[in-house]
Amino acid sequence: MDFVCPKCRAELKLDGNVKKCENGHSFDRARAGYYNLLLGSSGGVHGDNREMVEARRRFLSADNYLPLASRLGELAAEYSVDG
Ligand SMILES: [Zn+2]
Repeated sequence: MDFVCPKCRAELKLDGNVKKCENGHSFDRARAGYYNLLLGSSGGVHGDNREMVEARRRFLSADNYLPLASRLGELAAEYSVDG
């Protein structure tokens, strides 16, 4: 998948763990494996911090959505054309 620089719209190319554009803008790869392409605020706080990423990972890996997924599966089977 190709990405463009959110600052200048030039193509971002991978250079090690950094995506860079030809105009010198660069975006580091987070330890969690994603690239945060949001432009930072003047306060320097943007995106999710490590605690937020870890909390989300814990929540999503704990099957908290399993009852919802199961019920949706039941409803899909109930209302599908072929039964
Ligand atoms: Zn750029």
